[in-house]
Amino acid sequence: MDDLKKQTKQFQAETKQLLDLMIHSIYTNREIFLRELISNASDAIDKIRFQSLTNLDLLEDDSEFEIRLAVDEADHTLTVSDNGIGMTYDEVVENIGTIAKSGTRAFLEKMQTTGQNQDPAELIGQFGVGFYSAFMVADQVTIITKAPGAAKGVKWQSTGDGEYTIEEIDREKRGTSVIMKLNEEYRNSEKSEENFLNQYTIENLIKKYSNYIRYPVKMDFTKEEKPTDKEGNEIKDAAPVFSVETRTLNSMTPLWVKNKSEIKPEEYHEFYQNVFHDWNDPLEVIHTKAEGVVEYTALLFIPSHAPFDYYTRDFKSGIKLFSRNVFIMDNCQELLPDYLGFVRGLVDSADFSLNISREILQQNRQLKLIGKNLEKTVLKNLENLLNKERSKYESFWKEFGKAIKAGIYMDFQSKEKLQDLLLFSSSHTKDEGLTTLAEYLKRMPAEQNEIYYAAGKDRNAVERLPQMEILREKGYEVLYLFDRVDEFTIDSLHKYQEKLFKSISRGDLNLTGEKEQESKKATEELSKENEDLLKAVKEHLTEKVTDVKLSNRLKSSAVCLVSSEHGISLQMEQILAEMDQKMMRASRILELNPNHPLFVTLKKLFEAGPDSEKFKDYIDLLYGQALLIEGLAVEDPQAFANKVAGLMVAAEE
Ligand code: ADP
Ligand code: MG
Repeated sequence: MDDLKKQTKQFQAETKQLLDLMIHSIYTNREIFLRELISNASDAIDKIRFQSLTNLDLLEDDSEFEIRLAVDEADHTLTVSDNGIGMTYDEVVENIGTIAKSGTRAFLEKMQTTGQNQDPAELIGQFGVGFYSAFMVADQVTIITKAPGAAKGVKWQSTGDGEYTIEEIDREKRGTSVIMKLNEEYRNSEKSEENFLNQYTIENLIKKYSNYIRYPVKMDFTKEEKPTDKEGNEIKDAAPVFSVETRTLNSMTPLWVKNKSEIKPEEYHEFYQNVFHDWNDPLEVIHTKAEGVVEYTALLFIPSHAPFDYYTRDFKSGIKLFSRNVFIMDNCQELLPDYLGFVRGLVDSADFSLNISREILQQNRQLKLIGKNLEKTVLKNLENLLNKERSKYESFWKEFGKAIKAGIYMDFQSKEKLQDLLLFSSSHTKDEGLTTLAEYLKRMPAEQNEIYYAAGKDRNAVERLPQMEILREKGYEVLYLFDRVDEFTIDSLHKYQEKLFKSISRGDLNLTGEKEQESKKATEELSKENEDLLKAVKEHLTEKVTDVKLSNRLKSSAVCLVSSEHGISLQMEQILAEMDQKMMRASRILELNPNHPLFVTLKKLFEAGPDSEKFKDYIDLLYGQALLIEGLAVEDPQAFANKVAGLMVAAEE
């Protein structure tokens, strides 16, 4: 078969935009390009290592994994090479340039929304757009690569201005070289830390960003020495002698093997940033050793910020596995439950066999045991944070609270473990303040039997709900659920410390005071008296509501809409509808306030003629109001507005 000849191709539109942005608007921290290329090289070696565990032939005698850096002063190039998995022709086209990855769009959006406030270099690694950062320092980037077993290699080249060329070439070695022709600014800069041809600059950058990469990053260092005489003293006037030595620039020490007491916080942080590509320090570091039935060391981190894609399907959770310092695999998801997917880190255990496959892992008993222990450790840690460092915990909650809440409704068995980690806003807390369920219970008056909650889009919306009034009057605290998943979580919990949760917009409020009992009785009597009226209203609203009742939860409002005790709530219905599950409908119950003047009017209209248009219009308007108060849309806004307009005119006549 003939080689694929040189072709010129266009970058995909978003990639073009991204490159443009990298080249023309990011000026700080351009040095991170090196970190990104090293990390790609290390990923590529991980991949071949993992595949070679089950297929040794892949390595073809080239099994000394390493990353090489080379400087060419004459050509102004810096090259990063690896003997990793390489890429086939199609893979180059797909991975580099043509298909925009999800991270590309997210990165562009983030850059547009945060603008100057965020250091873009910080975002590059997080969004998985690392390769392109080479164009921040290079006028031209060339990739030479070959996949193991492929007949041909591939050469890719671009100046970053919208197109690239690609062709097949002859190449023996497996792996990838990225050759950067450095921009003038970055090859003879006055500031040595921006001269990327300078070997010491490079050495420093590797120490700073890639010290914990687990394959050696090697470079030929040129040493300049004066010749010495027999006694070993320098000969002053002699011309210097140059020698070349290959150095490994990164330390590769497995930090977790060291004794906890010997590790400084900065070392943990540096390790975390190096290995997990986060610009921020972690919120928490958990370093534990277990001996006994299972033996392992774990070094876990709770990030201080959720990654941009954490709440999407693209997010890759999981822990790194090692066996006696030897890396086995990334993103092992069998170790921690889904709801702890935000935890980063690694576990090293001699009990793991090196050529373990993902399938075997799922049934591995040791792994399950270790996982159980780690889950406990992480939860204990969070509990301590909550009790001892509240504001730190609240900042954790802001980032990952959703995950904990999802844990409750996704995994029935986790309820008990997680309920005490929950935080809510409430009518007691002010502004941003949050309460735990235990704290709520402590404040609960003796006669209160249930834990009240109300769902809405924010504090304002909830506090304006007509149902709030009566609870406020009673002095009962109400939990505010602002997050869309909150109500699902509360629904799965069902109760806390034997106290049932009670929505203020669902079913009967069950208030127990003498006054309430009286008013309940009175309402029942009134309902009997007005049976026909209620029936007529319900008839007119068939299909819209399942029932019409007189209310004893309303004070100054004329109407409200509640849902029945069982089934889903109005808020949940909306969320499900957005997820395209329109079949789920909350049963709507319209409650009328018998003490409101409007009720008297309605009654008059009914008595004058239950079939009159006016009576029907009033019902429609009341129902519309109830929807609006709940933050729902009226079904026919035009008709609603016309009826209101008609009333306004009539009022002035
Ligand atoms: P990310 O590393 O987050 O996937 P990058 O932009 O850094 O994003 O790299 C894009 C893709 O290009 C990688 O996912 C990988 O498939 C491929 N790639 C980059 N560098 C190498 C390399 N040295 N060896 C093999 N494949 C590579
Ligand atoms: Mg990368």
